[in-house]
Amino acid sequence: MIIIYPKFIQPLFNKLTPLEDGELKTDVEALAAQEKFPLDKLFVIDGSKRSSHSNAYFLGLPWGSKQIVIYDTLIAQSKNVKEVVAVLGHEIGHWYLSHTTKLLVINQAHIFSIFTLFSAFVKNKSLYNSFGFYNEYPILIGFMLFGDVLKPTDAVVGFLMNLLSRTYEYQADAYATKLGYGKELKVSLITLHKENLSALNVDWLYSAYSYNHPHLTERINYIDEVEQELKLKKKE
Ligand SMILES: [Zn+2]
Repeated sequence: MIIIYPKFIQPLFNKLTPLEDGELKTDVEALAAQEKFPLDKLFVIDGSKRSSHSNAYFLGLPWGSKQIVIYDTLIAQSKNVKEVVAVLGHEIGHWYLSHTTKLLVINQAHIFSIFTLFSAFVKNKSLYNSFGFYNEYPILIGFMLFGDVLKPTDAVVGFLMNLLSRTYEYQADAYATKLGYGKELKVSLITLHKENLSALNVDWLYSAYSYNHPHLTERINYIDEVEQELKLKKKE
């Protein structure tokens, strides 16, 4: 899917055009070169065609060169080039810290464990018996019962996955802040939050359980903390 999606599926829904020469392109290329990010091509995607959701991401296999895709909405909504570059600083942080590869491996392991459990489960007659199936063991019923049994354990797994994903988000924010984009990243996060119509304020426990990204206020507070630490280090 990593190979097929951007080449064949995404173009069915969105148009990707190479980023025009200019300040943004120069700055992103400079940042990529500085961080040794294997940048191949830079694209703009017409995200505005479907919604005002805006962001940026990169494509490519873990070991190969990569394409950076920026939403046209992110460019349009940002007040200056540095705000866009700040978001890319965050994305490059994900790459630098191998977050995408780690999550890919963990997700594969998760799916593999679910299939393994399912195959053990669907052959176990005692469960069918507990639900009144004695003579027949239809696979569809096994599938539904498995879903019910999986739900509570998967809630725990989901929580742990969110915890990991949130940790990675904080780390990528810290990375961009250390590159000197803390101020712009905060502005960009606020802009994205507004444009994406995200929840205004969320209880920390709800956020920890339900969101794979920390909430806006959590991220801004964290970036402030990192900036504060950097200032203290400079003074020393
Ligand atoms: Zn991120």
